[in-house]
Amino acid sequence: MSETPKVLVIDDEEAICELIVAVAESAGFEATSASLPRDIEDAIGGRFDLVVLDLSLGEIDGIEIMSKLGATHRGMPVILVSGADQTLLDTAGRIAEMHKLRVIGTFAKPFSLDVLKTAMMEWSQVIDQGMDPTGPKVIINADLLLDPDLLHLAYQPKVSTQTGEALGVEALVRWRHKDHGDVSPAILVALVEQEARTSELLDLVMMMAARDRKRYRALASLADISINISVLDLNDEELPRRAQRVLLEAAPSERWTFEVTETAPITDVAPALAILTRLRIAGFRLSVDDFGTGTSNYERLLVAPFTELKIDRAMVSRLDIAAVEPDPMVRSGIDVGHSLNMQVVAEGVETADQFRMVRDLGCDAAQGYLISPPVVPVQIDAALDEWRRKFEYLS
Ligand code: C2E
Ligand code: MG
Ligand code: MG
Repeated sequence: MSETPKVLVIDDEEAICELIVAVAESAGFEATSASLPRDIEDAIGGRFDLVVLDLSLGEIDGIEIMSKLGATHRGMPVILVSGADQTLLDTAGRIAEMHKLRVIGTFAKPFSLDVLKTAMMEWSQVIDQGMDPTGPKVIINADLLLDPDLLHLAYQPKVSTQTGEALGVEALVRWRHKDHGDVSPAILVALVEQEARTSELLDLVMMMAARDRKRYRALASLADISINISVLDLNDEELPRRAQRVLLEAAPSERWTFEVTETAPITDVAPALAILTRLRIAGFRLSVDDFGTGTSNYERLLVAPFTELKIDRAMVSRLDIAAVEPDPMVRSGIDVGHSLNMQVVAEGVETADQFRMVRDLGCDAAQGYLISPPVVPVQIDAALDEWRRKFEYLS
């Protein structure tokens, strides 16, 4: 690393600031802190690589700071801490994302300092891998970003909630360098979007998925493989033709799904709708990814010919077996999907209780760590065997 990364700690309690500063220093950061409103205002004008922000700051609040930070430090990674409960923190996290900040962790007080330290260390490794998280620049050689030798796909099964059978898998991109380690897809995709190279990433992903599907029996025998596309790809008039050329070599179009998630605002709805409709006319399936986290543009997109709706894991994780009424958002998501004849999938199902709840609420399919984490092709059969054994005990 060329320079020690800098962290700014903002908390109205000085004692907490001191603690977090100490943790940051032990995680390899140079740390400064601010507690008083005027100091905070001054401090956020400075240069740093990470902010740890308390949401309740007395006279001013963390939400206000987020909007200021977002205006001057677009893409700045933040860790949010608060004495409030996790639900409020999740909401604050979403607001931070709307202000174009990058939330790398949310911690409800009291939290373990070890966990905070781990989050900071992981982040300093990301910086170490040569990427400047504060801006759109990629310090690593731009060629490395989409070097086919560093990319591969992991596949996560999606299963029927009724029969437990695998309905398909989702292809998730992985970037791995023998010296630099792994870069998470969220960061990779953000960098690729900033560099306006999403169609290059998509071409590579489609090519790898088609190749894997021809090469591995476990994939060839599955009904469906999903591929994630960026909304930026929905400006690309050539996409339907390229998708047909690359993917149909391995399987007919009705056995491929494109998942669309709103990682960037959809600026122009009409061309996006046109591309989606052309993909659907070509026979591909279309999925609304991360439903429940996007913005109102989704509503306009719902007139597009989607065949599937994936309820975001943030909503699934809030399902509580003890609640009198299940989460109304999940219920309405399922209703929306079914009334538009879509298959509804619950994402991020981690526990047997969550599986039973989404099944009983009417979700057709489930995906998540309970069933299997994303795995490489040769591990798919074993992962599904293990899942079948679990499923027997679930019903
Ligand atoms: P996504 O499309 O919503 O994919 C699901 C993400 O949730 C994956 O993260 C998966 O590993 C994670 N996940 C699955 N089950 C669970 C669970 O039970 N608990 C928890 N906590 N997480 C679970 P991953 O692989 O890190 O990907 C993150 C996001 O990056 C994806 O979210 C997708 O939006 C994007 N992405 C991944 N691959 C590609 C790609 O090839 N192209 C594009 N454009 N985006 C991609
Ligand atoms: Mg997806
Ligand atoms: Mg998703």
